[in-house]
Amino acid sequence: MASYTPMILQYLEIKKDYQDAFLFFRLGDFYEMFFEDAIKASRELEITLTSRDGGSEERIPMCGVPYHSAASYIEQLIKKGYKVAICEQVEDPKLAKGVVKREVVQLITPGTLMDSHTLLDKENNYIASINQTGHTFGFAYSDLSTGELKVTLLERVEDCFNECALLGIKEMVVADEFAGKWATVLQERYGVTISLQNELDDETKFESTVSALTRAEEKTAVIRLLSYLYRTQKRSLDHIQEAQRYQTEHYLKMDEYSKRNLELTETIRTKDKKGSLLWLLDETMTAMGGRLLKSWIDRPLTNLNEIQERMEFVQLLKEKFFERQELREKLQKVYDLERLAGRIAFGNVNARDFIQLKHSLKQIPEIQSIILGILSSPNKWEASLDACEEVYNLLEKAIHENPPVSVKEGGLIKDGYHPKLDQYREASRNGKSWIAELEQEERRKTGIKSLKVGYNRVFGYYIEVTKANLHLLKEGQYERKQTLTNAERFITPELKEKEALILEAEERSVELEYDIFTAIREEVKTYIPRLQTLAKAISEIDCLQSFATVSEERHYVKPTFSQDRKLIIQNGRHAVVEKVLGMQVYVPNDCYMNQERELLLITGPNMAGKSTYMRQVALTAIMAQIGCFVPADAAELPIFDQIFTRIGAADDLVSGQSTFMVEMLEAKNALTKATENSLILFDEIGRGTSTYDGMALAQAMIEYIHDHIGAKTLFSTHYHELTVLAEKLPKLQNIHVSVSEERGNIVFLHKLREGAADKSYGIHVAQLAELPNEVITRAREILVAFENKDETVSAIVKEPKTHEPEETQLSFFDVTVGDEEQQKQKLILEKLEKLELMQMTPLDAMNALYELQKMTKA
Ligand code: ADP
Ligand code: MG
Repeated sequence: MASYTPMILQYLEIKKDYQDAFLFFRLGDFYEMFFEDAIKASRELEITLTSRDGGSEERIPMCGVPYHSAASYIEQLIKKGYKVAICEQVEDPKLAKGVVKREVVQLITPGTLMDSHTLLDKENNYIASINQTGHTFGFAYSDLSTGELKVTLLERVEDCFNECALLGIKEMVVADEFAGKWATVLQERYGVTISLQNELDDETKFESTVSALTRAEEKTAVIRLLSYLYRTQKRSLDHIQEAQRYQTEHYLKMDEYSKRNLELTETIRTKDKKGSLLWLLDETMTAMGGRLLKSWIDRPLTNLNEIQERMEFVQLLKEKFFERQELREKLQKVYDLERLAGRIAFGNVNARDFIQLKHSLKQIPEIQSIILGILSSPNKWEASLDACEEVYNLLEKAIHENPPVSVKEGGLIKDGYHPKLDQYREASRNGKSWIAELEQEERRKTGIKSLKVGYNRVFGYYIEVTKANLHLLKEGQYERKQTLTNAERFITPELKEKEALILEAEERSVELEYDIFTAIREEVKTYIPRLQTLAKAISEIDCLQSFATVSEERHYVKPTFSQDRKLIIQNGRHAVVEKVLGMQVYVPNDCYMNQERELLLITGPNMAGKSTYMRQVALTAIMAQIGCFVPADAAELPIFDQIFTRIGAADDLVSGQSTFMVEMLEAKNALTKATENSLILFDEIGRGTSTYDGMALAQAMIEYIHDHIGAKTLFSTHYHELTVLAEKLPKLQNIHVSVSEERGNIVFLHKLREGAADKSYGIHVAQLAELPNEVITRAREILVAFENKDETVSAIVKEPKTHEPEETQLSFFDVTVGDEEQQKQKLILEKLEKLELMQMTPLDAMNALYELQKMTKA
């Protein structure tokens, strides 16, 4: 150790405090990494691993990235869930005695990204913290880029997981007591980066943020989060807003699985936004509106007044086409004020941002007047639509319309804003025009027409005379400075004097411009709370105009809300499927439920539209509860407190890990948590096990919901046997998706009808696939036997008919019924029944048949 060079010792000293991060160690124009960091980074970033002499016997592994392109490397590491500590030289190397002083100036982590290139406009980047006290959890989360800060109290650790999944938390700040098993779950199941923060800063430091919080658990969670943010970011975070309490009970609850299954914000298969409800509803014009829309979909409302308040505005906007178009145009010109406020506080705002802020503020009075034209005064947004005139005027007066990206190279500030700056500019301009005149004058004096005055960075201003004309100069007229192949360059004391004046004026003016810019930034900083209030109003208005736009375009209607748990949808459609298929193609369907009719048992062949219908009901309810109109001719809906959806394991192709156990756990979730105000969708539940098991479980669940919960329930099943339940359970109604047969073809009508499906079409399809006639005939026989409820499988199995030997060969089941044989036959039957004939090609069907036959011979 002692043998390391002072610089490596400095590195090791700093690295000690950043064990879980890559330390980007600034060396000249590079960020270097050493030792383990270097080996790992070279692998992760695919950059060359080199080594360097560090004073010890062995050379030290090293790799580096150029300072100017560091951002993209940092981004790559962050995306992989790593952290990066940026270590800069904090004194001028020229003035340093010994090793240049270095310090970590920022720890960049997945939850603290601020870089606008890496962040998606319409998505939040959340970091959260948990504070556990006994069995309660304070849960706080924030988006550092926007300053949003929310906090709640959760009773169970699963609720914490659920919040993490719902919000897409990237990083979780915890203390030791939470860091064990649960943190591992978060890390492994949800890809959350875990960060330890045991030490808490003094509460007084965050007075304005936490003073309104009364619960200690919540307060501590917020303080833990802020302690971490200040420690890692090491700068002012004035844009972090006062912590806002929320309660999950105030929103419609959906577990992470149900959300995914309904494809609310991304599709199951591709995880894309395209094809989700969010995609359908997103006609927002601003990034802020886009983010708010996503959070509205994540948390639909349960308070009737709040829902109606949103809907009333949607209604007004929907009717006023021209005002809405105008509003949309204005909104489009409004920049991301929320993230801008963040960058102002963070100190990485540039002059171009300010110009965009100015243009945004310019839209506000016009937006205000459109809103006033639609709503009466006073209204909800009137005070918040605050154009911050002082800021507008300041920026209009001070900042150039087309400034450069850099804030350190001048060209930012307008003439006439600052007298001293004007003086420097004047001096520089005067100097330059003096030089321009000098060229004319020297040409005249010397008679050399090609004489010119030029400038380069090394020698400054010079007079250039070609070799051919040198003889025209008097001895000692100019001072020789540089010799080129066919010209000589000269200077004069006067020229150098002017040059010094110009350069000094320019240098000073660039410095002064930066100072002025910083002062303006500090001034605008004081408006951050007002800008944030404005941003909130704009994003709400934007979301609501988005609802109005979609509702008008797609002919949605305003639903009413039922006090007595009625659910009546006339000609309802699945909003997303309708958009994908087209309005002409989609077949609308009614849904009718009330307190006497709480469970619908849906039968019908594969591909008939059962799953689509069930999801359509859930999506309609969700759309209504976020304040949007719904895809139907008319709708009366209850306000749901929770929605549970579960698809049978056999249908759940995507999750992969979904086993029958998971299916049952999800079912348990619904059965234990649902209330009479909930909506349950069970889509072909019980398919993950053997037929009789599955059927028994399905029936037991239906009975349980019917007798004990009374939640609105849609239960689709391919177990026809279950349809008799309607005779026993008064609140259960059979419905089916009808199909018609035309000239041997099945036509899917996608139309829901009362009553159970009269038959299963599987055998019909098998016939179409041209299975051998014997199989079809026999399958019909077996089916009839199944449909006669009182018969068991063994009863279906034919008695051995020894007197008709030729038949023994033909029938699958024509064998002696031993115990083992019985098992085997049962297995074959089950296999036969489980065949998804509608989804098989004739060849698949042949193969399956071959397998079955093989089993009979085994
Ligand atoms: P099931 O669950 O009964 O097997 P799905 O709900 O998965 O059937 O629907 C199968 C396909 O039928 C869907 O992919 C969709 O394209 C189409 N479909 C479903 N419902 C409708 C409808 N109401 N109108 C038009 N097409 C529909
Ligand atoms: Mg289905």
